Amino acid sequence: MSSVPSISRGRFAPSPTGPLHFGSLVAALGSCLEARARGGRWLLRMEDVDRPRCRQEHADAILATLEACGFEWDGPVLAQHTRNARYAEILERLKKMDAVYPCGCTRSEIDGAPVYPGTCRAGLPPGKTARAWRLRVAGDIAFDDAVQGRQRQNLPRAAGDCVLLRADGLFAYQLAVVVDDADQGIDHVVRGADLLDSTPRQICLQ
Ligand code: GLU
Repeated sequence: MSSVPSISRGRFAPSPTGPLHFGSLVAALGSCLEARARGGRWLLRMEDVDRPRCRQEHADAILATLEACGFEWDGPVLAQHTRNARYAEILERLKKMDAVYPCGCTRSEIDGAPVYPGTCRAGLPPGKTARAWRLRVAGDIAFDDAVQGRQRQNLPRAAGDCVLLRADGLFAYQLAVVVDDADQGIDHVVRGADLLDSTPRQICLQ
């Protein structure tokens, strides 16, 4: 018997904002090997929720590169741009829980602040209309990363109330990634260390 805990699902979730770069290829390989070594499934998700920054030709090129490198994923590729109804449903659920609030601040009003100062947290100030929706974060989140070790972040201080629905009407990556990982039954995430900092926000949202 192996002492390695079994996992059922890993994933690789590139953003088609350009061709697959070397760091992403490392994440693809790491997540694939991690899942396969445990006899698990490995899924592919195209994180194209940020429509203005994504291009179909980049998505096609990424898939072609992965294929050329010999990667084989399980099931169809899930594209985030097909999932807006699902994200909207989850946002409605969060509204009912009072876990999110409307924010009327413009970019220029909060520019320069290290984290969102919470201007609209207790209700929209007079004269402001809702532009975006933000998650109410609270407390510390800690987790163990298999490579980077124990991580701890005080969410209000380090991240602040993050945007889930943007002023341009697009859902934010932070919401999409959490909903998709849950819906796809992902139980082990292998990805770039640049996302270490976002992980506590995503755990809070989970
Ligand atoms: N789409 C993200 C990126 O390419 C990765 C998201 C994730 O692995 O959670 O940076």
